[in-house]
Amino acid sequence: MVPMKQPVNSLPADNSVWDAVVVGAGISGLYMLHRLRQIGFSCQVIEAGADLGGTWYWNRYPGARCDTYSLEYSYSFCPQLEQEWQWSERYPSQGEIWRYLNHVAHRFDLRSGICFNTRVVSADFQPANNQWQLQLDPAQQLSCRFLLMATGCLSSPNMPDIDGLQTFKGPIYHTARWPQSPVDFSAQRVGVIGNGSSGLQIIPELAPQVKQLVVFQRTAQYAVPSRNRPLDRQEVTKIKADYPGFRARNRQQSSAQLSNVETCQQSALSVSPAERQQLYQASWQQGGFVFYATFNDLMRNQQSNQTAAEFIRTKIGQIVNDPQRAKLLSPQHVMGCKRPALENGYFETFNRPNVDLVDISANPIRSISPRAIHLQDQEYPLEAIVMATGFDAMTGALMKIDICGLNGLRLKEKWSSGPHNYLGLSINGFPNLFTITGPGSPSVLTNMMVAIEQHVEWISDCLQYMAQQGYDRIQASAEAEAEWVQHVNRVADETLYTNCNSWYLGANIPGKPRVFMPLVGFPPYAEKCRPVVAQGYQGFILS
Ligand code: FAD
Ligand code: NAP
Repeated sequence: MVPMKQPVNSLPADNSVWDAVVVGAGISGLYMLHRLRQIGFSCQVIEAGADLGGTWYWNRYPGARCDTYSLEYSYSFCPQLEQEWQWSERYPSQGEIWRYLNHVAHRFDLRSGICFNTRVVSADFQPANNQWQLQLDPAQQLSCRFLLMATGCLSSPNMPDIDGLQTFKGPIYHTARWPQSPVDFSAQRVGVIGNGSSGLQIIPELAPQVKQLVVFQRTAQYAVPSRNRPLDRQEVTKIKADYPGFRARNRQQSSAQLSNVETCQQSALSVSPAERQQLYQASWQQGGFVFYATFNDLMRNQQSNQTAAEFIRTKIGQIVNDPQRAKLLSPQHVMGCKRPALENGYFETFNRPNVDLVDISANPIRSISPRAIHLQDQEYPLEAIVMATGFDAMTGALMKIDICGLNGLRLKEKWSSGPHNYLGLSINGFPNLFTITGPGSPSVLTNMMVAIEQHVEWISDCLQYMAQQGYDRIQASAEAEAEWVQHVNRVADETLYTNCNSWYLGANIPGKPRVFMPLVGFPPYAEKCRPVVAQGYQGFILS
């Protein structure tokens, strides 16, 4: 275990032009810094938070846990690192990932390159010298040749604008801005708004601690048991004996959570109902995202999808004692078009006498007063509120920065009808700016660790190529960008992902354009990136 050092909180006095500035010190920013140093670039990371870790620094709510296997949700770039780190559970907790990222930072001396408690407020491209001029908060300026946005896909919390929210007298917590020290909820009536992945994790943890838990549910959620468990030493030894092979198989899987799992190659409709039930039951018993890959067409064929949805609804009916509650907890939308979840005792929680479930789909929250949440016709007295209301995903953190490219073009204007870029990496009109796991890349539909490593390596290889060839400026061409946006939409339209109001579509944020933002499928994406490089960065304008 490494000693936790004090975060570095100031910029070096020598404030000359950096080769690169990286915004964000999560998994992406840490690896980007390491790679840039390896290729000899001077680099500074700017992080709004008081410490490193990004997602795993901010989301400290009770029950916060990864639902990708720990041995896959870890960097693969250093063989010694992957051998020496010992994961304890099948799915790592927030605390364990955070300790891991601290270990990485210590091992590669990354803290020395990070300025904490500092937010990038604006970024202006200066065409005369091909430099980005950054305005920071607290007030400081910084210049760099390349601006690398490691700002995260799920880092800008969504705090709903509910009438009277500010008047509430008790504490209001957002899962993605959880306090550093544990919160004591004992003897309190606590309301939770939201039951996405975060809500599903926090609700079973809070229920035994509180006097009364009131869950305000707008949409029921599909979830299967994670069956988390301590890792078996033998299975770890076996994986570590061929870690490169294990990683290679990860990269061949289209979805994060299915890595290294034999996915079924048949349609749900190609087997008899009895066999289908048996296969679903086997996946359910195994636990984890393997359930969603029991058949190969669950996200492509509505009828197949319905069979899985019905299986989960039946399970909910068997777990939850009160049939009316079970019905309310049973989702009706297309399974998977909102990101499905893993659960650890979520449905059982609704058998507890101190847990209320309030349906706000037809009877929405009208207002919040100093001591209660009010629906149209009912009020719920509360002493604390937990917002598990998610994020302004994929574009939120980027759009909060006033980014100005060539000819005064602002990113907010350019993306006013949805994000437009090439490969999820580069934006026409915004030279020398790269987004790590930006919209238009597989990002949130993959094991993010795999997606992040691929992007960081692609970007650092590109910067090294530019240095070797004497190029100063790079941006996506308008044609390549237009084709890419069409490609992302075409791939999504072949699936069931666009069939409901999800954050993938921006539908959770009032006024946000409805555009399916991630690209479905990691291996074909990586395949597309390779010839782009081989053909001298095809689709990019280099000068
Ligand atoms: P982040 O970790 O989001 O880091 C971005 C950083 O940028 C933040 O620290 C933020 O403060 C900083 N920043 C943003 N804007 C600015 C600015 N203007 N100035 C300065 N700093 C700024 N993915 C999986 O693959 N599997 C999982 O099981 C999984 N579980 C998750 C659980 C939760 C609760 C959440 C929220 C996400 C989960 N994810 C999961 C997705 C997760 O976000 C990624 O796996 C990964 O951690 C993203 O790393 P990142 O460095 O790209 O972004
Ligand atoms: P989310 O999936 O967007 O869920 C937000 C919840 O809040 C939904 O139930 C939503 O209802 C509700 N909500 C939002 N605004 C509301 C309002 N104004 N009034 C009432 N209800 C409202 O957010 P999340 O749970 O934080 O998860 C976001 C993503 O982070 C996940 O999809 C996943 O990618 C990642 N994550 C992963 C893990 C993990 O892997 N272990 C854990 C947590 C998060 P509607 O559905 O009706 O909109």
